[in-house]
Amino acid sequence: MARRAPLPPLPESAVLRSRLERARAAAEGTGLLIAPGSDLRYFLGAPGGSFERLTTLVIPADGPVALVVPKLEAPGFADLPLDELNVDVVTWVDGVDPYAFAAERLQGAERVAVSDFTPALHVLALREALPKAEQVLAGPIVRELRMRKDAAEIDALRKAGAAIDRVHARVGEWLRAGRTEAEVGADIADAIVAEGHTLADFVIVASGPNGASPHHALSDRVIETGDVVVVDIGGPVAEGYNSDSTRTYAVGSPRDADVLATYAVLQEAQQAAVDAVRPGVSAESIDAAAREVITAAGFGEFFIHRTGHGIGLDVHEEPYIVGGNTLPLEAGMAFSIEPGIYQPGRWGARIEDIVVVTEDGGESMNQQPHDLVVL
Ligand code: ZN
Ligand code: ZN
Ligand code: ZN
Repeated sequence: MARRAPLPPLPESAVLRSRLERARAAAEGTGLLIAPGSDLRYFLGAPGGSFERLTTLVIPADGPVALVVPKLEAPGFADLPLDELNVDVVTWVDGVDPYAFAAERLQGAERVAVSDFTPALHVLALREALPKAEQVLAGPIVRELRMRKDAAEIDALRKAGAAIDRVHARVGEWLRAGRTEAEVGADIADAIVAEGHTLADFVIVASGPNGASPHHALSDRVIETGDVVVVDIGGPVAEGYNSDSTRTYAVGSPRDADVLATYAVLQEAQQAAVDAVRPGVSAESIDAAAREVITAAGFGEFFIHRTGHGIGLDVHEEPYIVGGNTLPLEAGMAFSIEPGIYQPGRWGARIEDIVVVTEDGGESMNQQPHDLVVL
């Protein structure tokens, strides 16, 4: 029999209990069905697994919270402080209708909110089990909690940021002409784990023309002298919180004559956005702070994505730093600031830090210098 993996560091029971009660309050009468993944981890301390068999945490408007879980998956939750959290465990076996167990806990609910990443097969079956309840997304409710990080969560983000900084500090050991992006990426992935992450969640080594594609991952392209290389890397630490940091490197002097002046604009734009972070300003104003600098320099059409995304238990979560998002920033919100300038067919550059809103400004989780790193 396989031994159960040791539990990762759990938030204190009092913290988890308070999250459950705050979620219930924020739902304002709507029943919540929380799916395995980062939502479940936020409330119980462990993510569980999402399968064809239903696992769901039921948070009714009133009455006890219940974890509906297949009997064969229940051992995965046995080490959690479910008693202390007053969570009933409702197990089910193959051949019975698990949706009825969830529905029973939500009898009379007019609205039921399901986690954003609930598989459709469960969403539709839950709709049938609760035909009178309107189904809505839980994201807008859950984000009210998850996007305001507490001190322990910010500590975990700081730890993740320091770990990925140590990896960037070592990129010169592996990134050189004659190697492929994939070879360099494999070394970086090993270092992401060696420096304190539980896994390398993503590794982008985008050299030369590949740098103009923001989500290019890795390829067999051989890196050449003169290439500009975008390295965007991250992963979770044991607590589940993620790093995500980009630095742009040059292998020798950049081949293209426009790199240094363009990069200077990007650096100014990224700094302007970091400097604009403080409570009360809108998410879109941070996007605008970066975009105005880039647009004024004539590169607006080459900045082809939003300035950033929230980060925590997920690499991409609320709040999104994007035009149209008028959400006022509050202390404890954490997000990336990652403007880029992409020159199709030639090269690209991006600078990315994670910033947490403080009482009177912002704190960067990443301390590596922002300059183009010429190797
Ligand atoms: Zn991205
Ligand atoms: Zn990134
Ligand atoms: Zn990012």
